[in-house]
Amino acid sequence: MSTRAERYLAEIGIPVFKQRRESSSTESAAERALVVADDVVAAVTPPPPAARGAEGEVWERLAAEVRACTLCGLHKTRTQTVFGVGRRDAELLVIGEAPGADEDRQGEPFVGRAGQLLNAMLRAIGLPRGDVYIANILKCRPPGNRDPQPEEASTCTPYLSRQISLVRPRAILAVGRIAAQWLLQSDSPIGRLRGRVFHYGESGTPLVVTYHPAYLLRSPMEKAKAWTDLCMVKDLLQRRA
Ligand code: URA
Repeated sequence: MSTRAERYLAEIGIPVFKQRRESSSTESAAERALVVADDVVAAVTPPPPAARGAEGEVWERLAAEVRACTLCGLHKTRTQTVFGVGRRDAELLVIGEAPGADEDRQGEPFVGRAGQLLNAMLRAIGLPRGDVYIANILKCRPPGNRDPQPEEASTCTPYLSRQISLVRPRAILAVGRIAAQWLLQSDSPIGRLRGRVFHYGESGTPLVVTYHPAYLLRSPMEKAKAWTDLCMVKDLLQRRA
Protein backbone atom coordinates (compact mmCIF):
# COMPACT_ATOMS: atom_id res chain seq x y z
CA MET A 1 0.00 0.00 0.00
CA SER A 2 1.26 3.47 -0.85
CA THR A 3 2.14 5.82 1.95
CA ARG A 4 -0.54 8.16 0.56
CA ALA A 5 -3.25 5.56 1.08
CA GLU A 6 -1.88 4.76 4.52
CA ARG A 7 -1.94 8.44 5.46
CA TYR A 8 -5.55 8.87 4.37
CA LEU A 9 -6.71 5.71 6.09
CA ALA A 10 -4.96 6.85 9.25
CA GLU A 11 -6.70 10.21 8.85
CA ILE A 12 -10.13 8.61 8.91
CA GLY A 13 -9.09 6.43 11.81
CA ILE A 14 -8.68 3.06 10.10
CA PRO A 15 -5.58 1.24 11.31
CA VAL A 16 -3.42 -0.06 8.46
CA PHE A 17 -2.06 -3.58 8.80
CA LYS A 18 0.91 -4.47 6.61
CA GLN A 19 0.43 -7.60 4.51
CA ARG A 20 2.91 -10.33 5.25
CA ARG A 21 1.79 -12.77 2.57
CA GLU A 22 -0.49 -13.22 -0.40
CA SER A 23 -4.23 -12.72 0.17
CA SER A 24 -5.82 -15.66 1.91
CA SER A 25 -9.40 -16.68 2.34
CA THR A 26 -9.16 -15.87 6.05
CA GLU A 27 -8.71 -12.13 5.43
CA SER A 28 -11.60 -9.94 6.36
CA ALA A 29 -13.33 -7.88 3.67
CA ALA A 30 -11.91 -4.73 5.25
CA GLU A 31 -8.35 -6.04 5.04
CA ARG A 32 -8.86 -6.97 1.40
CA ALA A 33 -10.27 -3.51 0.78
CA LEU A 34 -7.19 -1.94 2.33
CA VAL A 35 -5.04 -3.83 -0.16
CA VAL A 36 -7.19 -2.50 -2.99
CA ALA A 37 -6.60 1.06 -1.74
CA ASP A 38 -3.24 1.32 -3.52
CA ASP A 39 -4.83 1.17 -6.94
CA VAL A 40 -7.82 3.17 -5.80
CA VAL A 41 -5.83 6.18 -4.62
CA ALA A 42 -3.33 6.08 -7.46
CA ALA A 43 -5.78 5.82 -10.33
CA VAL A 44 -7.82 8.97 -9.89
CA THR A 45 -7.45 11.71 -12.43
CA PRO A 46 -10.24 14.26 -12.23
CA PRO A 47 -11.98 14.69 -15.58
CA PRO A 48 -11.50 18.04 -17.35
CA PRO A 49 -14.27 20.54 -16.57
CA ALA A 50 -17.15 19.88 -18.94
CA ALA A 51 -18.71 22.79 -20.77
CA ARG A 52 -22.35 22.96 -19.71
CA GLY A 53 -22.85 26.67 -20.39
CA ALA A 54 -26.63 26.85 -20.80
CA GLU A 55 -27.13 24.72 -17.71
CA GLY A 56 -25.57 27.47 -15.62
CA GLU A 57 -28.77 29.46 -15.87
CA VAL A 58 -30.88 26.46 -14.92
CA TRP A 59 -28.70 25.97 -11.85
CA GLU A 60 -29.04 29.63 -10.88
CA ARG A 61 -32.83 29.49 -11.23
CA LEU A 62 -33.01 26.36 -9.11
CA ALA A 63 -30.75 27.86 -6.43
CA ALA A 64 -32.90 31.00 -6.34
CA GLU A 65 -36.07 28.91 -5.97
CA VAL A 66 -34.56 27.04 -3.05
CA ARG A 67 -33.36 30.28 -1.42
CA ALA A 68 -36.90 31.66 -1.54
CA CYS A 69 -38.67 28.41 -0.62
CA THR A 70 -41.48 28.55 1.95
CA LEU A 71 -43.15 25.25 1.03
CA CYS A 72 -42.78 23.71 4.50
CA GLY A 73 -42.54 25.02 8.03
CA LEU A 74 -38.75 24.74 8.16
CA HIS A 75 -38.36 28.10 6.44
CA LYS A 76 -39.55 29.74 9.66
CA THR A 77 -36.66 28.46 11.73
CA ARG A 78 -33.78 28.36 9.21
CA THR A 79 -30.98 30.91 9.16
CA GLN A 80 -30.56 30.22 5.45
CA THR A 81 -31.10 27.41 2.97
CA VAL A 82 -28.32 24.94 2.24
CA PHE A 83 -28.49 24.24 -1.47
CA GLY A 84 -25.50 22.05 -2.23
CA VAL A 85 -21.88 22.44 -3.16
CA GLY A 86 -19.29 21.09 -5.54
CA ARG A 87 -18.70 20.30 -9.19
CA ARG A 88 -21.84 20.55 -11.23
CA ASP A 89 -20.45 17.84 -13.51
CA ALA A 90 -19.24 15.61 -10.68
CA GLU A 91 -19.00 11.86 -11.21
CA LEU A 92 -20.02 11.29 -7.61
CA LEU A 93 -23.02 12.82 -5.87
CA VAL A 94 -23.01 12.56 -2.08
CA ILE A 95 -26.43 12.85 -0.45
CA GLY A 96 -26.90 13.46 3.27
CA GLU A 97 -29.91 14.01 5.42
CA ALA A 98 -30.31 17.67 6.30
CA PRO A 99 -28.25 20.67 7.39
CA GLY A 100 -27.17 20.81 11.03
CA ALA A 101 -26.36 23.90 13.06
CA ASP A 102 -23.01 24.57 11.34
CA GLU A 103 -24.48 24.12 7.89
CA ASP A 104 -27.45 26.36 8.71
CA ARG A 105 -25.00 29.06 9.82
CA GLN A 106 -22.61 28.72 6.86
CA GLY A 107 -25.04 27.80 4.08
CA GLU A 108 -22.98 24.80 2.95
CA PRO A 109 -23.55 21.07 3.51
CA PHE A 110 -21.25 19.00 5.70
CA VAL A 111 -19.05 21.71 7.16
CA GLY A 112 -19.05 20.58 10.80
CA ARG A 113 -17.06 17.76 12.41
CA ALA A 114 -18.99 15.17 10.43
CA GLY A 115 -18.12 17.13 7.30
CA GLN A 116 -14.42 16.98 8.16
CA LEU A 117 -14.64 13.22 8.40
CA LEU A 118 -16.64 13.01 5.17
CA ASN A 119 -13.90 15.02 3.44
CA ALA A 120 -11.25 12.62 4.77
CA MET A 121 -13.31 9.62 3.63
CA LEU A 122 -13.60 11.07 0.14
CA ARG A 123 -9.91 11.92 0.03
CA ALA A 124 -9.19 8.33 1.01
CA ILE A 125 -10.62 7.19 -2.32
CA GLY A 126 -8.81 9.94 -4.19
CA LEU A 127 -11.78 12.31 -4.49
CA PRO A 128 -11.19 15.68 -2.86
CA ARG A 129 -14.36 17.41 -1.66
CA GLY A 130 -14.14 19.86 -4.56
CA ASP A 131 -14.38 17.04 -7.10
CA VAL A 132 -17.78 15.73 -5.96
CA TYR A 133 -21.18 17.33 -5.54
CA ILE A 134 -22.70 17.28 -2.04
CA ALA A 135 -26.37 17.87 -1.26
CA ASN A 136 -28.96 16.88 1.31
CA ILE A 137 -32.50 15.54 1.18
CA LEU A 138 -33.64 18.66 3.07
CA LYS A 139 -32.38 22.14 2.21
CA CYS A 140 -33.33 23.58 5.61
CA ARG A 141 -32.26 22.57 9.10
CA PRO A 142 -34.86 20.77 11.19
CA PRO A 143 -34.96 22.51 14.60
CA GLY A 144 -32.77 20.78 17.18
CA ASN A 145 -31.48 18.46 14.43
CA ARG A 146 -34.55 16.27 14.72
CA ASP A 147 -35.17 13.71 11.97
CA PRO A 148 -36.83 15.10 8.84
CA GLN A 149 -40.57 14.48 8.74
CA PRO A 150 -41.83 12.54 5.71
CA GLU A 151 -43.87 15.55 4.47
CA GLU A 152 -40.75 17.75 4.66
CA ALA A 153 -38.75 15.19 2.72
CA SER A 154 -41.42 14.81 0.04
CA THR A 155 -41.79 18.56 -0.32
CA CYS A 156 -38.04 19.07 -0.67
CA THR A 157 -37.18 16.03 -2.82
CA PRO A 158 -38.10 17.67 -6.16
CA TYR A 159 -35.22 20.11 -5.61
CA LEU A 160 -32.83 17.22 -5.07
CA SER A 161 -34.23 15.39 -8.10
CA ARG A 162 -33.51 18.43 -10.24
CA GLN A 163 -29.97 18.58 -8.86
CA ILE A 164 -29.50 14.89 -9.70
CA SER A 165 -30.74 15.45 -13.26
CA LEU A 166 -28.38 18.38 -13.72
CA VAL A 167 -25.29 16.71 -12.26
CA ARG A 168 -25.98 13.38 -13.98
CA PRO A 169 -23.57 11.60 -11.63
CA ARG A 170 -22.11 8.22 -12.45
CA ALA A 171 -22.65 7.14 -8.85
CA ILE A 172 -24.52 8.28 -5.77
CA LEU A 173 -23.31 7.81 -2.20
CA ALA A 174 -26.14 8.01 0.32
CA VAL A 175 -24.75 8.76 3.76
CA GLY A 176 -26.72 7.71 6.78
CA ARG A 177 -29.91 5.86 7.46
CA ILE A 178 -32.30 8.72 6.78
CA ALA A 179 -30.90 9.54 3.33
CA ALA A 180 -30.62 5.87 2.40
CA GLN A 181 -34.12 4.90 3.51
CA TRP A 182 -35.66 7.93 1.85
CA LEU A 183 -33.88 7.54 -1.48
CA LEU A 184 -34.55 3.81 -1.61
CA GLN A 185 -38.05 4.09 -0.10
CA SER A 186 -37.11 1.31 2.28
CA ASP A 187 -37.42 0.79 6.00
CA SER A 188 -34.59 -1.72 6.17
CA PRO A 189 -31.91 -0.93 8.73
CA ILE A 190 -28.80 0.73 7.33
CA GLY A 191 -26.74 -2.35 8.15
CA ARG A 192 -28.76 -4.19 5.50
CA LEU A 193 -28.69 -1.37 2.94
CA ARG A 194 -24.94 -0.74 2.99
CA GLY A 195 -22.40 -2.99 1.31
CA ARG A 196 -24.28 -3.41 -1.97
CA VAL A 197 -25.14 -1.49 -5.13
CA PHE A 198 -28.66 -0.23 -5.81
CA HIS A 199 -29.85 1.56 -8.93
CA TYR A 200 -31.55 4.89 -8.41
CA GLY A 201 -34.37 6.45 -10.38
CA GLU A 202 -35.15 6.19 -14.06
CA SER A 203 -31.50 6.68 -14.96
CA GLY A 204 -30.61 3.63 -12.85
CA THR A 205 -27.66 5.51 -11.37
CA PRO A 206 -25.64 3.13 -9.17
CA LEU A 207 -26.22 4.02 -5.52
CA VAL A 208 -24.17 2.88 -2.55
CA VAL A 209 -25.16 3.43 1.07
CA THR A 210 -22.74 4.03 3.89
CA TYR A 211 -22.82 5.11 7.50
CA HIS A 212 -23.23 8.78 8.33
CA PRO A 213 -19.91 10.35 9.36
CA ALA A 214 -21.55 11.68 12.54
CA TYR A 215 -22.34 8.05 13.45
CA LEU A 216 -18.78 7.02 12.57
CA LEU A 217 -17.45 9.66 14.96
CA ARG A 218 -19.48 7.97 17.70
CA SER A 219 -18.78 4.42 16.54
CA PRO A 220 -15.26 4.36 15.09
CA MET A 221 -15.30 0.55 14.91
CA GLU A 222 -17.68 0.86 11.95
CA LYS A 223 -15.15 2.83 9.90
CA ALA A 224 -13.77 -0.33 8.35
CA LYS A 225 -17.22 -1.11 6.91
CA ALA A 226 -17.53 2.45 5.62
CA TRP A 227 -14.17 1.99 3.94
CA THR A 228 -15.41 -1.08 2.06
CA ASP A 229 -18.45 0.96 0.93
CA LEU A 230 -16.19 3.72 -0.34
CA CYS A 231 -14.04 1.21 -2.20
CA MET A 232 -17.22 -0.05 -3.85
CA VAL A 233 -17.98 3.50 -5.02
CA LYS A 234 -14.47 3.92 -6.35
CA ASP A 235 -14.75 0.62 -8.15
CA LEU A 236 -18.04 1.73 -9.79
CA LEU A 237 -16.46 4.97 -10.98
CA GLN A 238 -13.46 3.18 -12.44
CA ARG A 239 -15.49 0.51 -14.16
CA ARG A 240 -16.96 2.58 -16.97
CA ALA A 241 -14.51 5.47 -17.29
N1 URA B 1 -25.44 15.91 8.25
C1 URA B 1 -26.05 15.80 7.03
O1 URA B 1 -26.69 14.80 6.74
N2 URA B 1 -25.90 16.82 6.19
C2 URA B 1 -25.19 17.90 6.45
O2 URA B 1 -25.09 18.79 5.60
C3 URA B 1 -24.58 17.99 7.71
C4 URA B 1 -24.71 16.98 8.60
